[in-house]
Formats: sequence, structure tokens, C-alpha cells
Amino acid sequence: MTDSARRAVGRFAPSPSGSLHLGNLRTALVAWCAARHAGGAFLVRMEDLTTGAVADRETEQLADLAALGLDRDGEVVRQSERRAHYDAAIDRLVDSGRTYDCFCSRREIREAAAAPHAPSPVSEASEDGTYPGTCRDLSNADRARRRAEGRAPALRLRADHMVVTAHDRRLGELELVVDDLVLRRADGVAAYHLAVVVDDALQGVTQVVRGDDLWTSTPRQVLLQQLLGLPTPEYLHVPLVLGPDGARLAKRHGSVTLADRFALGERAEDVLGLLATSLGWAGPGERLDAAQVLERFDPDSLPREPWTLVAPR
Ligand code: GLU
Repeated sequence: MTDSARRAVGRFAPSPSGSLHLGNLRTALVAWCAARHAGGAFLVRMEDLTTGAVADRETEQLADLAALGLDRDGEVVRQSERRAHYDAAIDRLVDSGRTYDCFCSRREIREAAAAPHAPSPVSEASEDGTYPGTCRDLSNADRARRRAEGRAPALRLRADHMVVTAHDRRLGELELVVDDLVLRRADGVAAYHLAVVVDDALQGVTQVVRGDDLWTSTPRQVLLQQLLGLPTPEYLHVPLVLGPDGARLAKRHGSVTLADRFALGERAEDVLGLLATSLGWAGPGERLDAAQVLERFDPDSLPREPWTLVAPR
């Protein structure tokens, strides 16, 4: 089947670490609109690798999506149940000689990266700090010694300073040198980038819509797709939502969850109208249901700037 004949599949992939706030719901709305606009399926995946399944949170998040009319296809997938898939992908990278054990603690990475003249082949910090390559060329004896000291290693990708380009429908191209990212943490849990890439491929995802805080990580995911022979989905990164103080939206900003908004007397149509207004698809005060937002959806007219939520009444 050619790409154009392939059915579009979109997804929303929250972490069940807390309630969804208006920023998360706005991303979900855009992801749902993008999938439905393309006549495609819309999946929901719980990214609970680090939290483990959190049933209450999951139930609440799914209820929020349903209350807004963002219907989904298929069963919810939980990353905490998919370790075998991640291990299989990691095994393939290990077999291709593309990995190495890393015994560094976060502190050691921070210190080594901060040292003057530390070799730094990366163009941005990874979530565990810019990795200066300390363990890249350890001898077998070094590795054995560290293991004997009782240090459990993480597994890193030998990225070989590859330059990778990612494409985003809104943001264009981003070319970065990819760092030696972690594939499996020292506690045995697959790292986020690996899990996302494996899941998107296994779920047949063709479009990834998510917050633009993940845009600079996208080249890493594209590299993993290339090394694993997996297709690269289309990316659309949505600008973040900020609180009145200019910081990323959070609970402390007040009425930021759907339950908070309902407690103010708002209905789903008010919240969807607000989100659609923030996206430039509705006028202030307009009330819309999900189908009406979908009619107005235009993937090429997303705002360029973050949206600052004004404190609710
Ligand atoms: N789980 C991530 C988040 O909640 C989203 C990851 C993705 O969409 O690729 O921000």
C-alpha cells in the first residue's frame, strides 16, 4: 500500500501522572480534529512507563476526552504493559552493535558536561543532561569493573553524531546532531523516545500531534525510526499553553482542568469554544461542540505563539 492509500491514524498519548489541563485538552482536540479531518482513526495511549498504570487517573482522563466528544477507536494501550515490544526493539539495536552500557549517574553526567573542554557532540541537552560520552569507549575490563562495583548500567544508543532532520507541518524542518540517548534506563524501564517510536509504529500511527515542547526531541525519534526500519509519521507540534504569569500551564494557575471549569458552571461547549478561540477557529464567547470545531479545523492555520490563559472569572 502506498502512503497516500494508508488510512490516517492519529493518537493522543497522555501520561497519567495528573489531571489533564486545558493545554493537554487543547492538544487532544487538535489531534482528534487532525485524525478525523483526514478520515482516520484516533487512538489513545497511556504513557505510564514511569508512573505505572494509574487506574483513577486513566479513568478521569478518558472521561474528560469523552465529555468533550473526542471519541476514540480501539482499546486504550498502556506502555506499562508493553515491555516485550520495547525489549525486542532494543535487542535489534544491540545486535546491530549500536548500543553501549552507560554506568554514569545523573550527577556524573552533569559534572562531566559542565567541565571545560568536555567533548560535547550534542546540540542540545537530553532529559538526563547533555551526555559527554564518558562510557562510549569503555574497555571490557572497565565495564566488568563497574559491574563488579554493583553499578547497574543504562543502555545508550551509539548515535555516532548523526545529523538527522525532522519535519513538522507547522514548524518546517529541524536538523540536529543526535546525542547518545538512553534506550533503557538502569532500572530496566525502556526510555520514552524508544517506547514512543515502537508504539507509534506498532499502532500504525501516521500523524503525531503533540505539544511543541517535544519538537526538539523529534530528530532523536526519527533516528530511532530509521535505525529500526520503521516509518516516520507526519508531525504537527502544537504551541504550549501558558498561565497568566507566562509559565507553562499548571495546577497552581487556578481553574485549569475540565472539572475546574465545570465547577465554574461551564459546559463542554464553553470549554471547546474557549480552546477553539485560542486556536483562532472561533470568536470569544462562542460555544461549540466537537463536530463544529472539526468543521473549522485547518491544520495549516495553527497559531505560531503559545496561548496565555487569562485567569478565569
Ligand atoms: N506523553 C507525552 C506527554 O504527555 C506525549 C508524547 C507524545 O505525544 O509523543 O507530553
